[in-house]
Amino acid sequence: MNIKKKIFALILVISLTLGLNQNVFADEPLFIGCKLQRGVSNMYYYVDSSAEGYTYLINNAVDNWVDTGYGWNPIYMSPVASNYATDVDFYARFGDELEATTIAKTSFYDINEGRVSASESDWFFAKIEINVKVINTLREEVQQGTIAHELGHAFGLEHQNKNINSIMCQFSCGRKMHRVDEISHNAINTLYN
Ligand SMILES: [Zn+2]
Repeated sequence: MNIKKKIFALILVISLTLGLNQNVFADEPLFIGCKLQRGVSNMYYYVDSSAEGYTYLINNAVDNWVDTGYGWNPIYMSPVASNYATDVDFYARFGDELEATTIAKTSFYDINEGRVSASESDWFFAKIEINVKVINTLREEVQQGTIAHELGHAFGLEHQNKNINSIMCQFSCGRKMHRVDEISHNAINTLYN
């Protein structure tokens, strides 16, 4: 192959790759289905005493969503000392309450603390549970990324397991991104427009 043919072949491969990526991501829905009843622009979050040791990482993950570096989004969150009428609550689990492979988990509740399905109805608040046994085996950057990932669920974002550069990719699926990515940032603007 001469050099011109080589360059042409290389360009063809690059353009095919770019085209392929767009299609691969397109069949993964960005959203779980419903959203936070009160929106994301004036949220309050509570860190239970069990999760106190993760406060620094939780605050960093919150700050990352408030200021993603990709321009404006409606997210604003303030920490409060009680879980009364909060939008997001954090707990740490030290035993076997969560599955052995779960790093952290988000669940959705109505105003009466009844569990709801996020694909079927809006939620009054979300609960994020951190599995201490598992998260402590990961480096700090990944721990913070996991909390940011769970916050994405709390806001209504679905997994993006085919996009390892998305914060919404599960760590077990090869997530390389531990900060909020542009697609997830834009998804919030779409969901809470
Ligand atoms: Zn997840």
